[in-house]
Amino acid sequence: MRLDEIPRVHLANLPTAVEEAPRLAAELGWPRLLVKRDDNTGLALGGNKARKLEYLMAEARDIGAQVVLTCGGAQSNHARMTAAAARKLGMECILFLTDPMPERFEGNLLLDAVLGAEIRFLPGVTYEQLERTMASEEARLISHARIPYVIPVGGSTPLGALGYVNAVRETAEQLKELGAENADIVIALGSGGTLAGLVLGCYLFLPEARPIGISVSRAADQARARVVRIANEAAKLVGIGHEPDVERMAIYDRYIGEAYGIPTQEGKEAILLAARTEGLILDPVYTGKAMAGLIDLVRKGEIGRERPVLFWHTGGAPGLFAFEELFHDEAVRLASES
Ligand SMILES: *Cc1c(COP(=O)(O)O)cnc(C)c1O
Repeated sequence: MRLDEIPRVHLANLPTAVEEAPRLAAELGWPRLLVKRDDNTGLALGGNKARKLEYLMAEARDIGAQVVLTCGGAQSNHARMTAAAARKLGMECILFLTDPMPERFEGNLLLDAVLGAEIRFLPGVTYEQLERTMASEEARLISHARIPYVIPVGGSTPLGALGYVNAVRETAEQLKELGAENADIVIALGSGGTLAGLVLGCYLFLPEARPIGISVSRAADQARARVVRIANEAAKLVGIGHEPDVERMAIYDRYIGEAYGIPTQEGKEAILLAARTEGLILDPVYTGKAMAGLIDLVRKGEIGRERPVLFWHTGGAPGLFAFEELFHDEAVRLASES
């Protein structure tokens, strides 16, 4: 396997910690809950995208890229972290966002502006249209003798997924020390690159673990096809001559709620619970829904209590600052004036 031969640029603070969450576990009546703190990767306030960007931005650097193009929703953590990575490597960044320009620039979007990314709002376009828009901008830049580098949504390419193959290698050591190599690993699932890397990583370094994705956008069968495709391609990149076994992986799509980016009541409750038992900050778009899914799956017995659970915290907290209205009443309830 040639994982260590693939160019990588240092962007994330690694290893991130694996922490016990005993108060949250007790509250839920579970024997053991561990949390992988990828919210602490650094790179403009942290999150899972830092690990993917270590590989993607190495490729950008190696082709001499001057400007990085990527896309997402207005509150994209990936867009924010790509903008930061571009700056750290002396590049420009153009972000193509699927939402209308909001009245207020909050959360990730505020950071995009602070980082000086060029922001193009394309309200209502599909991701296919976004990819086409990026491709034509790429061609335009090339015709102006500039060197662009395009990163697809979420950085979820086989190359980006290698960040999570490495992440599992890192985590395997930590879980070994904690006696939890057989953990059920629960993670938020969006564009799929993270779970793809996790699945390949578990296949290689942590065979007793079980990767479980909680989808925040796509239907389970669609998400699964994407994850498997990216994992298979990533396996080729590192020189594994066969497709990795994906049978242990499970994907659930019942916790999306109305749509991607729209908070659910269960997600909100999970955010409050994690914050108030462990001081852990989750977000309404990804990690809150993933935690809500985890809680429900244990309650229903679909995740057993006999194995330890590792909740893989993928970040997202900057997005919380764009959801003041979700917690406004709670804040007022807690507040007083004297
Ligand atoms: C992007 C993101 C995810 C999902 O990762 P994918 O690779 O897109 O599936 C999960 N959590 C947070 C906070 C994210 O920003």
